[in-house]
Amino acid sequence: MNRVKSEEIFSKSCTVMPGGVSSPARAFGHVGCNPLVVERGEGAYLYDVDGNRYVDYVLSWGPLVLGHGHPAVLDALSFQGERGVSFGALCEAEVELAEYITGLFPSIDMVRFVNSGTEAAMSALRLARAFTRKEKVIKFSGCYHGHVDSLLVKAGSGVLSLGLPDSPGVPSSVAADTLLAQYNNIGSVEEIFAANRGQIAAVIVEPIVGNSGFIKPQGEFLEELRQITEREGALLIFDEVMTGFRVHPVGAQLLYGITPDLTMLGKVIGGGLNVAAYGGREDIMKLVAPSGPVYQAGTLSGNPLGMRVGLATLREWHKTGVFETAANYASRLAEAISDIARSNGVALVADNEGTMFGYFFSEKPIVTCEDAAESDLERFRKFFAGMFERGVYFAQSQFEAGFVSASHNDETFQKTVSALEEVFPLL
Ligand SMILES: *Cc1c(COP(=O)(O)O)cnc(C)c1O
Repeated sequence: MNRVKSEEIFSKSCTVMPGGVSSPARAFGHVGCNPLVVERGEGAYLYDVDGNRYVDYVLSWGPLVLGHGHPAVLDALSFQGERGVSFGALCEAEVELAEYITGLFPSIDMVRFVNSGTEAAMSALRLARAFTRKEKVIKFSGCYHGHVDSLLVKAGSGVLSLGLPDSPGVPSSVAADTLLAQYNNIGSVEEIFAANRGQIAAVIVEPIVGNSGFIKPQGEFLEELRQITEREGALLIFDEVMTGFRVHPVGAQLLYGITPDLTMLGKVIGGGLNVAAYGGREDIMKLVAPSGPVYQAGTLSGNPLGMRVGLATLREWHKTGVFETAANYASRLAEAISDIARSNGVALVADNEGTMFGYFFSEKPIVTCEDAAESDLERFRKFFAGMFERGVYFAQSQFEAGFVSASHNDETFQKTVSALEEVFPLL
């Protein structure tokens, strides 16, 4: 593929933006190519500035459940654009989206809108600490909750792909209150509680991990987290920024029948605009200012443009059969990846839940972030590059999940399978 113009733009961007990008996951250096420079998206396809077309399984890292440029989203954009994109005052669309969310999640009585998953994590932790009057937090290695100082400890994909240590600039005093457990290892959680009796404010977890690649909870892991946190008087925070509306029409908590105390949402609820939220039980949420003393604010929070696009996206996604069709595509895709790998003698595990999928170049099943880090990264690099050259854009990191939208169809499936059949024999 010719990427002359992409290369030109990227070399300019490197002089004015660190690494040439606005977020590290967009870099392609570790896979040996220049970043994708996008001109436009249409349905399930992306076009780069050189006119190359790609089937898009990244979908802005999850939010675009309808694909690019869905008519319902365009209508919402123009409707609200004409009326004003931000007022810094209460608007009706906020209330509609809040009602929509509280109607879907039995665990959420009230929500507060924010602008990013990072902000949702930061705010949920502040609230959990205020509510419990405790300071320490348990997170899992390989789970990512945004670039919040205290949570940038073994934080998954961005850090893993670029081989960075935990970030400099995070004060050790802040990181010291973050205690690290291992995902799918309930014993590691029990040990931390035993060593810090009465000091743990919350356990924060991605109910299905998407930020060390795609890793499902094993056995009763989530149920046990619920029991331990209840017993110890700590809050259970589900970070559903990625899993929300992706692994189930609503969230992982409904899929597994677990009721967390607080939930973080992001990505899909803004349909591609910068909307996120945290919410939960009324007695906890009522502590948030101005109804309570826990301060948290935002100039653009709940802006009508994001609210309208989020509502339009969710309403389309929840029409009969839409989610199920996309989920069925994701499961056929995971199967095709497994089958083609097996027939070419390539060790690989692939899986999906709803419309989120993942695969690892590994002989053994992946149940922890440490397992993920041991998968065959060299093979992944070759695989990624081979697919990318053939117009199929999977995430350029082994430690990211993949996504399917309502716009993916038989044509994109066939195109993907043909590329898989060409690429696997080369690995
Ligand atoms: C993307 C993500 C975040 C961070 O959201 P931003 O909007 O990028 O700040 C937090 N948690 C999870 C699980 C995510 O996937």
